[in-house]
Amino acid sequence: MSWEILEINQPHVAKMISNSMRKGRIAHAYLFEGQKGTGKKEAALLFAKRLFCLTNLYKEPCETCVNCRRIQSGNHPDVHFVTPDGNSIKKQQIEQLQEEFTKTAVESNRKLYIIEHADQMTVQAANSLLKFLEEPSEKTVAILLTEQFHRILPTIVSRCQILSFHPLPTERICAYLQEHGVPRQLAILAARVTNNVEEALRLSQDDWFAQARKIVIQLYEALNSEYVQALLVIQQHWLSHFANKEQMHIGLDLLLYLYNDLLYVLLGEEQHIAYGDCMEQFQRSRFLYSEKQIAQHMKVILQAKARLHTNMNPQLLMEQLVLQLREGSAFV
Ligand SMILES: [Zn+2]
Repeated sequence: MSWEILEINQPHVAKMISNSMRKGRIAHAYLFEGQKGTGKKEAALLFAKRLFCLTNLYKEPCETCVNCRRIQSGNHPDVHFVTPDGNSIKKQQIEQLQEEFTKTAVESNRKLYIIEHADQMTVQAANSLLKFLEEPSEKTVAILLTEQFHRILPTIVSRCQILSFHPLPTERICAYLQEHGVPRQLAILAARVTNNVEEALRLSQDDWFAQARKIVIQLYEALNSEYVQALLVIQQHWLSHFANKEQMHIGLDLLLYLYNDLLYVLLGEEQHIAYGDCMEQFQRSRFLYSEKQIAQHMKVILQAKARLHTNMNPQLLMEQLVLQLREGSAFV
């Protein structure tokens, strides 16, 4: 991630950090809170690079100096990371960090530590950290990251400057992708699949994604004609294209948005649809479904997504889904 991207993704956060750097008033502790995928860790790394970068460019860290590169790879001697050991961050881990920080900075006059999933600290670890935060050293910066703000001890929260990360509106991501030459029909889907601008850009520029979209439409058409046809699409195209769990999630999301579009068509809200080029198919199949049935279809797709976590055989999962999507439809 670049600072420019951070300014698009999280303008408030970027501005707060830039201002405090400009005024030389960097807080001793920051708490970055917000949903998964809002770029908290990337922002923490960027912040660290800006503090340590040797090139001293305006805002954007150079990414090429030895400090930027070592921060990126997690090897800078004055930048430390704490991540949960198993399910929690243990007291011992915080104590190790403190011990490390009693030494003077190795190469610079500053030290920084980033605690990921800070909400997963045990009570003992949190109390240990609290003592650490209560005796701030002039040149120490702490960045705590969390997706579960409400689970952080209030005493810790009160010692941090809180920066909230918000999911980016789909329309903003979509506009950004289109500015980068992505056709709208792919941009709108990529923007819905991920809240992360960079990931959305990478995805929408990948041929795999355009092909994924085609297969999903193919499956939808087959589902509206013959059951056997739908099974063929699964066996011949789907399983090889959506070859791992992550890809399966994307495939099922794309299918979900397709049914969501059909719902929009039924409700007369065509302006919201993502598959603009499928209007003809929607008009043809709209009479096959009631709103309630489409809602039911969307529910079973979400259930299939949940079942991905149980390590169910993908072929079985998809065949069951096809069966469920056929059930309750007008043509069964
Ligand atoms: Zn640099």
